[in-house]
Amino acid sequence: MQHLHHPLGYCECGRPVEFKQAAGSGAHREVSCACRRRHDVELGASGWTVVAELTPEQSVPLSGFSTELRHAADAERFWFSYALRGGAALPVHILFSCSAKAAEVRAADLKVFHVDGVRLPTEARRRWIAWWQDRRPSRSRGPSPVVPSRVGRLPVMHVARRPETHPAR
Ligand SMILES: [Zn+2]
Repeated sequence: MQHLHHPLGYCECGRPVEFKQAAGSGAHREVSCACRRRHDVELGASGWTVVAELTPEQSVPLSGFSTELRHAADAERFWFSYALRGGAALPVHILFSCSAKAAEVRAADLKVFHVDGVRLPTEARRRWIAWWQDRRPSRSRGPSPVVPSRVGRLPVMHVARRPETHPAR
């Protein structure tokens, strides 16, 4: 085990991200900050580095998330930002239950991604990114049947939360 004398990085709140508080095993760990942010720490060629920060949130847009998870007594909510289509980063929401070992992840207008067997919210983030990246190659061959290219014209799921999404002129 590598012993670190310096913080791995700094949290948004200014506190150091320190390896001694890490949870998990293997090449990915999660460090909880006193401010309740979670940091995803990864072992790479140059040692441990912070690769992502999850920010707790009091409320998220709950449409699309399952009732079971929304009502889990220990449900926790986080968000992180991610450049979905290589452009501007968008907020991605995580609903996580430690007791259920499950999470649901939702980005923009995409359907909710359910993850089973996760013990940490940062693990749910990584599983979601892997799922998302798996789907990307099909887009290079033209319009994707999986991912609508524009926000606001979802042909699937519930019919129109907002019937008219065009910006008014
Ligand atoms: Zn912090």
